[in-house]
Amino acid sequence: MKPLLKVENLHTEFRTDEGTVKAVDGISFQVRAGETVCIVGESGCGKSVTAMSMMGLVEEPAGKVTGGAIAFGDDDLLRLGKHELRTIRGHEMAMIFQEPMSSLNPVLKIGEQIMEPLMLHLKLKKKEAAARAVELIRQVGISRPEQIAGSYPHELSGGMLQRIMIAIAVSCSPKLLIADEPTTALDVTIQAQILDMLRTFKESSGMSLLLITHDLGVVAEMADYVIVMYSGKIVEEGEVTALFANPKHPYTQGLLKSKPVMGQRTEELYSIPGQVPDPLDLTPSCYFHDRCEHCMDVCVSREPLLQPLGNGQKAACWLYEEAAIHV
Ligand code: SF4
Repeated sequence: MKPLLKVENLHTEFRTDEGTVKAVDGISFQVRAGETVCIVGESGCGKSVTAMSMMGLVEEPAGKVTGGAIAFGDDDLLRLGKHELRTIRGHEMAMIFQEPMSSLNPVLKIGEQIMEPLMLHLKLKKKEAAARAVELIRQVGISRPEQIAGSYPHELSGGMLQRIMIAIAVSCSPKLLIADEPTTALDVTIQAQILDMLRTFKESSGMSLLLITHDLGVVAEMADYVIVMYSGKIVEEGEVTALFANPKHPYTQGLLKSKPVMGQRTEELYSIPGQVPDPLDLTPSCYFHDRCEHCMDVCVSREPLLQPLGNGQKAACWLYEEAAIHV
């Protein structure tokens, strides 16, 4: 079956005074209907820029999608005009950001902000949209929805605002919801409730979810398929159960090792040694080589390619050159 979303060889760059940063450097992946794909990695690995590129939110001239294709249904999002992209964005494809306060308009009431996509995309009349907005507020688990609809963003807590963001995002029943670190700023109880809500919406509507996170606990709970990014590239991907049971890439192994395990007491949590390399100073190599305990000569002079290794997993690492299934 044709995937809902197919990203091929995506390149997004940012120009700085010091040089060009390849924030996303030739990544390819797909999301099927009803599937949850998680993109995981440290800050600055390119996961959020991937989402921004898909939504047409990379701001030019400093940033630019410089290559690739993003097929969504029958459209290539990178070839669409601004107007066509706007009709898809917020309707068939919606996004939730990490910081709801910066995404909501501070001078518009909550109800009005939920009504906007309903009137724009679904062509609801004002009265219908207002009633639907109240219903959506109720659906995201907020009591006194009529009163909340008449409130301004600064009157609500962070957890409530994130629920409102979800209400706006799912208001037009999107086929794909992109959630960029949707629970990072929230405490664990609210985090669990938000994830639960996303799962419920996904199951009831059949939408696909592209979840961007640095939190492997969230990945374990939500993902069908996992993509691990490092320095703008995909270094490993696979079905969640296989990848968690048998991570291949040393970076994924390090990430999993640094994940706290409930009930297990340790003196100090493991952290991957070293730093992410300077994006302005990259040479053809494995970008993880400075931090990798298995580093070999080849790793510092040649870039490993993402290769299938069987069991649905792929990794970009010279350790597996012999084991790679060359197709
Ligand atoms: Fe480590 Fe080499 Fe594999 Fe990179 S390619 S992760 S340096 S073993």
